[in-house]
Amino acid sequence: MYTFENIVGNENIVNSFIKSSENNTVSHAYILDGKEKTGKQLISKTFAKLLLCENSKSKPCLSCSSCISFETGNNPDFFFIESDKKSLGVSDVRENIIKNLETKPFKYKYKVFIIKDAHNMTVQAQNAILKTIEEPPNFAIFILLSKNYNSFLPTILSRCVLFKIKPLSPAIIKQFLINKNINQTMAKFYSIYSRGSIGRALNIAYSEKFINFRQDIINDIVKLDSLDLIQMYNLIKKYEDIKEDINDILDIYLLVYRDSLIFKQTNNFNMIIQTDIKTNIKEISNMSTKNLVNKIEALLKAKLYLEQNSNFNMTMECLFLKLKEK
Ligand SMILES: [Zn+2]
Repeated sequence: MYTFENIVGNENIVNSFIKSSENNTVSHAYILDGKEKTGKQLISKTFAKLLLCENSKSKPCLSCSSCISFETGNNPDFFFIESDKKSLGVSDVRENIIKNLETKPFKYKYKVFIIKDAHNMTVQAQNAILKTIEEPPNFAIFILLSKNYNSFLPTILSRCVLFKIKPLSPAIIKQFLINKNINQTMAKFYSIYSRGSIGRALNIAYSEKFINFRQDIINDIVKLDSLDLIQMYNLIKKYEDIKEDINDILDIYLLVYRDSLIFKQTNNFNMIIQTDIKTNIKEISNMSTKNLVNKIEALLKAKLYLEQNSNFNMTMECLFLKLKEK
């Protein structure tokens, strides 16, 4: 359900949207930028629903024909543009946007266009949309969703109101999960694994697959010391095959070493995040403090390199040689 009450955090952005609607200062073009699963669609669609609502300028009334048709995906004046290709080309823009600007809204005040992954628009597509953003018909509102606003032409950036979604704090996510009846212990470490994204936290919290996946990685960590070089390369190969999950994998490593270090220094299980794997944590905490710190540093470095698109295998080789050091 698209309501402002369902949006967690990001109050500044939500309030700016609501104010602009109440004060009739809605812009023609917005960029909503943020990482994967940080609420871009929920926020932008709720704003679109508000703009199209027949009864209210402050929050979608949920009872007018516009609000109802919005929720079922049949609002004639709402356009959600996504491409199954890697890029959004000029023909996508023409077909889905420019053509639809030739006629007035079917029923409501605006025509609202949300473009998913707009950072993937080719330069030609951006230039095509630029013309409409520069001289938009009164009824047209564009919201470009992006994961990297730096890929927009400066001319696009200068025409759009840019909002950046920041990751939420673990405390906010933890409370959100507890409100959803997830128990304290699990909520605590899901909030850490979620990297500031409610969408991710929910995915993880309701996924049996994730529980098994995590257990599998923890088993790898426990065995790591006893692996010979060939087995180590096999392990890297295993992770290469599930490369898209590498951030999760390295986060699991990080949390295990983090908890082991904390337990080593406090000897107190109340201080650790993952109380469900106490035995493993206790065992790993037998390493020296220096060794644990080195491992954590090596993991943080590897995460950074991978984020900057360094070579996967080389980064992982260096990392695992470090992790195996005694
Ligand atoms: Zn309404």
